[in-house]
Amino acid sequence: MSKVATRFAPSPTGALHIGGVRTALFNWLFSKNQKGTFHLRIEDTDKERSKDEHKKQIINSLKWLGIEYDGDEYIQSSKINDHIKVANELLKNGNAYKCYCSAEEIEEQKKRARQKKLPYIYNRKWRDIPETNAPEGIKPVIRFKSKIEGSTILKDLVQGDVEIENGTIEDFIILRNDGSPTYNLSATVDDHQMKMTHIIRGDDHKINTFKQMQIYEAMKWDLPKFAHVPLIHTIEGKKLSKRDNASTLDDYSKIGIMPDALRNYLLRLGWSYEDKEIFTLDESIKHFNIEGIGKSPSKLDMSRILSMNEHYIKNIDENDLFNQFTEYCKLYKSEIKPDKKDNIKKSLTFLKNKAKTLEDIFNNGQYIMVDEVKFNQDDIKLIDEKAKKVISNFATKFTAVDKISKETLEPIVNDLIKSNDTNFKGVGQPLRIALTGSKFGPGIYDIIISLGKEEVTKRLTNKIII
Ligand code: GLU
Repeated sequence: MSKVATRFAPSPTGALHIGGVRTALFNWLFSKNQKGTFHLRIEDTDKERSKDEHKKQIINSLKWLGIEYDGDEYIQSSKINDHIKVANELLKNGNAYKCYCSAEEIEEQKKRARQKKLPYIYNRKWRDIPETNAPEGIKPVIRFKSKIEGSTILKDLVQGDVEIENGTIEDFIILRNDGSPTYNLSATVDDHQMKMTHIIRGDDHKINTFKQMQIYEAMKWDLPKFAHVPLIHTIEGKKLSKRDNASTLDDYSKIGIMPDALRNYLLRLGWSYEDKEIFTLDESIKHFNIEGIGKSPSKLDMSRILSMNEHYIKNIDENDLFNQFTEYCKLYKSEIKPDKKDNIKKSLTFLKNKAKTLEDIFNNGQYIMVDEVKFNQDDIKLIDEKAKKVISNFATKFTAVDKISKETLEPIVNDLIKSNDTNFKGVGQPLRIALTGSKFGPGIYDIIISLGKEEVTKRLTNKIII
């Protein structure tokens, strides 16, 4: 068998949807697993709706997730002449015909179908009428002469044998009356010319596959193998649409989901291998197979994405986490100031423990990044006279501390608890508010260590609280 070649073929008519990303991932992993090639084809023949910004977003999304395609992007619109040539060949061989129905006539047929509550299917009127009967002034479309009798079996690699009555497939248009090719023609010609061996795509393309198979047959081209992946549904079980929140990659990266975590989540969304959950990139490539793709739709579950991300935050190398966090802040929040970088880096050890996303790290570590503490207006009211005394007592004792650590700080806190006749909260809370602006946050020792001596001293003597 020839070397495996797969492709991802998005239309740049909108931002890349999470379902599309998973299709791209499966195609890519399959080609990697088989030591084949993977290609990106931009299906931009719909000139009005295709936008360069969407094409860029698609390319960036794949890059963000680490999906690399071989060669340059294949731009479908640049191959239109090849598609038209095939349409004419099909016409010449009697596999296609010109249809002269007017727009009104087609509309009338659709209306009748609606009234009868039947799906519209073109009545094949011009299939057998000789061209000499063509009406004046109407530009024809070219339709494929679909099979009417019998049935066809699609040997789907995911769904098994899928049989369909040929009569249910209409004589679909391959060339519009403005001379432009339709998706089914262009995709088939491109897949053939690109020498694709496996077409892995969403379930919603199954009917198209039956149409495309007929073009392959009519052109006597080798048929690639097809795998239709069940769609992704919302947690409520509805079909995921572009209008759903969190449907593009930007929605995830914006809240601080990391690419490796999302890749791992998407891999497991509708694919399984034993009961393994966590897959490094190498493991994904090593184990990916089409047999592992499930037959029923999978549900997009935000809580699982978050727990996958949490796993990655806790387990990846801290330098890597720091780099990703820095990049995240630069893109979506504010850049970390150079003099705060070291403090952030050493604080990841505890900041990561309470974070499901990079945004959580940002929020919980905000106090380290700011020059001036931003006080929560309710919390600052908790700084009464007693709290002020605790803060200034601590500040005094703190000046004598040489090396800041839990071991050196604990005795001071314990002393203060005793001398102020209070408990741990009575000391910890005022200090936490003074140092971070909020009564919530990391443990008090972690806060002090993360800020360092100079900054702690500065904050404890802030005029606003003392
Ligand atoms: N442009 C089509 C889509 O985005 C491609 C389908 C296919 O993979 O053939 O749905």
